[in-house]
Parts: sequence; structure tokens; C-alpha cells
Amino acid sequence: MDGVTKDGARELLEEGIAVMAELQSKLYAQDHWAILLIFQAMDAAGKDGVIKQVMSGINPQGCEVHSFKAPSSEEIDHDYMWRAMRRAPPRGTIGIFNRSYYEEVLVVRVHPEILKNQKLPAQLVTKDIFDQRYTDIRRYERFLSRNGTVIRKFFLNVSKKEQRKRFLERIDDAEKHWKFSAADVRERQHWDAYMAAYEKMIQETSSPEAPWHVIPADNKWYTRLAVASVIIDTLSGLDLHYPTVDAKRIAELHDARAQLMAEKD
Ligand code: ATP
Ligand code: MG
Repeated sequence: MDGVTKDGARELLEEGIAVMAELQSKLYAQDHWAILLIFQAMDAAGKDGVIKQVMSGINPQGCEVHSFKAPSSEEIDHDYMWRAMRRAPPRGTIGIFNRSYYEEVLVVRVHPEILKNQKLPAQLVTKDIFDQRYTDIRRYERFLSRNGTVIRKFFLNVSKKEQRKRFLERIDDAEKHWKFSAADVRERQHWDAYMAAYEKMIQETSSPEAPWHVIPADNKWYTRLAVASVIIDTLSGLDLHYPTVDAKRIAELHDARAQLMAEKD
């Protein structure tokens, strides 16, 4: 995709979105598989833009986006997977997680003091806690996949330099002020720790049934195209088709047509 210009990328993306829409329509009609797309990234990597783009051609009835922020007090009263489990996509649909349970091995790894607020019994918080989380996440994803949920995970890999540029744009451009958060600039101070956590997370939780895709994120068009192509490949690999109907049903359709045609006016 290196030689693709911005206009070329836009065109390719439009084609890709049309292909995706057709596949999604079959996914929905067939009603067996569910798709779970997980997006993780540093701030300003473009998660929101990618999700908006991917969604733009898709029937909203068959797709839901969930954004996972710092947990609420109700969420803290449960295990960390609870809020994600409740939002697992139903068959026939695409679920998009904007952040996810992976925050539990990212922000919590970088700031282990967060563990203290998770109300876990003290004896369960050991030095092994993150290794246990990787194991549990792998098993949970295997469970989902064995039951018909296809998982694809995206790490949008923005560089530290590009993040700085995007933060500065948010400060300098009045229309982007709303996106700026001083907390994001503070988090940036932990860049190396985050990168180490991402690396470990990818090593520990990539599996054939739930692979991580590391997508370069300094160029927005490239990022969107790369994500769209993974989604199309995934859907294309599923042998999706509209359900076929049996002879009895075809006879019903004929009868219904005859009845409609016989109506006066
Ligand atoms: P935007 O791009 O609009 O800023 P965002 O996803 O960054 O979207 P924010 O409300 O800015 O949304 O940030 C959500 C914050 O919640 C992130 O800093 C993230 O690390 C944090 N968070 C998410 N899940 C957890 C968790 N399980 N424990 C602690 N913090 C979490
Ligand atoms: Mg943010």
C-alpha cells in the first residue's frame, strides 16, 4: 500500500466499505457468527476515526460500538471481565470495543496503584497477577471463539512524535480544543512503560483464533485501509451466505405472491 495517494486510498476505502456492507448483510441474515473487533492504542492514535470510517457503510442494526472508560463503582464491584461480557456481540452482528479488558494489562500495568481500587481480596493480588490476567484473557477469547465469536484485535501504533504533533494541533485548532486533555499529556510521560506493556500484551495474548494486528498509525488513510482490509479478509474467510429456503417455504412465497396479485387496487 506504500504507493497509494490520499485520493487513491479514499477510493479503495470506499470500495472496501461497500464490500464490507455486503458481507455484513450476509453475516446478519445467516445469524451464526458474531464478530468482535477490539481497538487499543495510545491517545490520539485515531481509534475514533477508524471506528467511524469502518462503521460508515455498515447497517447500524447489526453493529454496536462500546467505549470502555475507567470503571464505574458498579463495575468495580464485579470482576474486570463482567462489563465486557455483557457487551459481547450477539450472533449475526459486529461488536466494536473502543478500549477493552486489555486496559487491565495496559494502564493498570503502567499504574499498578490502580489495583488497590479494584476491591480485590489482598491475598489475590500477587506478583503473578498480570500473568494470570494474560492466561484468563486467552482462555476467555478461546471460549468465545469456540462458541462462534470471531475476534480480531488492533493495536493502532502511533509514534511518540506523531502523537505530539496531534496534541499540538488540538491545542492550536479551536475546533479540536474539545479533544484535548491535559491528562493525555501526563500519560505521555509514561510512553516507554506503555510500549513495554503493549509488547508484552501482544506476545502473551496473540492466538490463531484471536490475533493482534499491529497497524502503523502515523498516516490516517493507511491505518483505515489496513484495518478495513483485515475486517474484509476475516469476513471473507467465513463462507457467509444468505440462508437458502426449502421447497415448502418457496411454495409459501408463491402463494403469497398469488394472493398479493389477486388484490384489487
Ligand atoms: P478519547 O479518544 O475521546 O479521549 P478515550 O478512549 O481516550 O477517548 P477517555 O475518557 O479520554 O477516553 O479515557 C478513558 C480512560 O479510561 C483511559 O485513560 C483508559 O486508560 C481508562 N481506562 C479504561 N479502562 C480502564 C480500566 N479497566 N482501569 C483503569 N482505567 C481504565
Ligand atoms: Mg482520551
